Amino acid sequence: MSWEVVIGLEVHAQVNTNTKAFCGCSTTFGATPNTQTCPVCLGMPGQLPVLNREVARKVALTGMAIEGNINALSKFDRKNYFYPDLPKGYQITQLFLPIVQKGLVHIQDKHGNEKSVRIHQIHIEEDAGKSMHENSEFVSHIDLNRSGIPLMEIVSEPDMYSADEAVAYLKSLHQLLKFLNTSNADMEKGQFRCDANVSVRRKGEPLGTRAEIKNINSFRFVKQAIEYETQRQIELIEDGGTVVQETRLWDSVKNESRSMRGKEEAHDYRYFPEPDLPPLKLSDEELAEIRASMPELPHQMHTRFVSDYGLSHYDAEVLSTSRDLAAYYEALVQAHPKDPKQAANWLANELLARLKEINTEIADSPVSASDLASLLARISDNTISGKIAKDVLDDMLKSGDAVDAIIERKGLKQITDSSAIDDMIQGVMDANPAQLEQYRGGKDRLFGFFVGQVMKVTKGKANPKMVNQRLKEMLKG
Ligand code: ADP
Ligand code: MG
Ligand code: ZN
Repeated sequence: MSWEVVIGLEVHAQVNTNTKAFCGCSTTFGATPNTQTCPVCLGMPGQLPVLNREVARKVALTGMAIEGNINALSKFDRKNYFYPDLPKGYQITQLFLPIVQKGLVHIQDKHGNEKSVRIHQIHIEEDAGKSMHENSEFVSHIDLNRSGIPLMEIVSEPDMYSADEAVAYLKSLHQLLKFLNTSNADMEKGQFRCDANVSVRRKGEPLGTRAEIKNINSFRFVKQAIEYETQRQIELIEDGGTVVQETRLWDSVKNESRSMRGKEEAHDYRYFPEPDLPPLKLSDEELAEIRASMPELPHQMHTRFVSDYGLSHYDAEVLSTSRDLAAYYEALVQAHPKDPKQAANWLANELLARLKEINTEIADSPVSASDLASLLARISDNTISGKIAKDVLDDMLKSGDAVDAIIERKGLKQITDSSAIDDMIQGVMDANPAQLEQYRGGKDRLFGFFVGQVMKVTKGKANPKMVNQRLKEMLKG
């Protein structure tokens, strides 16, 4: 009987509010350590937390987007443990009655079939501080800027059956949060991190014992960590051992996971209701207001791109990956409505590939949507060919010059004068009498040779359609 891996994921996503969850401190990333703190998030005795309602609203919006149940009344609890980066000795979280329960995240499985992963709950939680070990060999420092930063913890059911499915789920969730603007989800800034629960079983059997791999912060590491853990568990069982429930750490340098703590050492968090905060209540009006603020979601945008612009599912998928990309595309189509499919090709295939090479996001593209639209306009009005346009795009990215200025500067204007084209074709025919004879003798393949020669003579500037048409006629003799 073959093995099956079962995966459940817990994602910590930073809710993107300007101030922290329970005090007014800034959440701006990268500030000098301990400059964004106050008695509340430093855990001074006698200080009282006050909920930032924007956090509740953003988490509720996220819950609505996954079709979850929003609890009009939810509660806060304390999760107690001792750690140097946790001055209060507890984190405020929601264990017994979280703000969102149930819900679905839609993904495609490895065969391209639609499938949904069930969400168990989403709860509000505050982040802890950060220990820093890089400044000194002898002591650790602590930065409490992160202390009290709002998080939403999104807990899935164990519904994923391969590392690829787990990654597809994470990508779908990541995209959703960014569309909703409820998290910036920048993985490099630790704003979207994941704990992977992994177990194996023989197909058809009940769930096996799971190990939890903590704090993975890239899609690639999630895939590697799950694949490694799956193999480790299978080998362990096949060698007569048993999997123990434990917490493991992924070492992305050595490409292996190792045990951090077993069940015996597992934290007893001594959860109890948070006495300093009243229950979180969301009125009907507030819930309606939140629901009304729901933006267009990725799958809705995808469908609209197919129906409004006639895009293929593939292109629609690519262009709705992010709001920035979609906004760029729509601005491009608005400036050059003539051919939305051509616009999609130029954006997805030409511009994105070039931006990738220079490591630039679409939002920071040196070529704006209206710049790209002027390039497309010069193709449409036959000023330049599509092939030349690619060189012009390279130049635009490098020089920052406008399309027409580049065409002028480089003398790229397409040759559409039919007598000029005829002259050049005649010249090529005269220069290649042997090939001409072979062609006329039935060697059709040589047609490409002549096209190439004409293009060479004209440095690619002759209108390709006219060259083809005139060549066919003139070669016949
Ligand atoms: P805990 O309370 O110890 O955190 P939960 O029941 O809340 O445990 O589950 C935590 C995560 O582990 C969830 O995402 C859940 O889907 C996942 N999970 C639970 N059991 C298994 C299992 N046998 N295999 C894989 N994942 C599991
Ligand atoms: Mg848990
Ligand atoms: Zn504070």
